[in-house]
Amino acid sequence: MVIKEYCMNIPKNVIEFAKKKCLKSNMRHKLSTISYLGERIIGSGFNRMMYPCKKKQYKGIIAYSQHAESSCIYNTPRHLLKGCSVLIYRRNGLMSKPCDTCFDLLIKCGVKQISWYGRDRSITTIFI
Ligand SMILES: [Zn+2]
Repeated sequence: MVIKEYCMNIPKNVIEFAKKKCLKSNMRHKLSTISYLGERIIGSGFNRMMYPCKKKQYKGIIAYSQHAESSCIYNTPRHLLKGCSVLIYRRNGLMSKPCDTCFDLLIKCGVKQISWYGRDRSITTIFI
């Protein structure tokens, strides 16, 4: 697998959508992930706290966070996932590099282009 790093422009509508979407998160660090083809948005997701077992949520025992990337994968039609591009956005354009688990997940799903914001707020894009 060849990974190339580039700085490149992401379609404006994708960035605007990501900015709105991340506000839906119920977590302190609000992230969203948008999957797109060209300028067409095909799926999106945001990170959130999940409470699969409602009875125990008050004790804080059974709860976990779903990352924006996996949420986006669930919300993108499978046949479009392979070969699509993905932007990971964090509120105010803060650092949004995907964790190793999400990174592997995106690659396994056949995503061809992954972009995120660096500490200096520039966008890094890799092509897989
Ligand atoms: Zn992650």
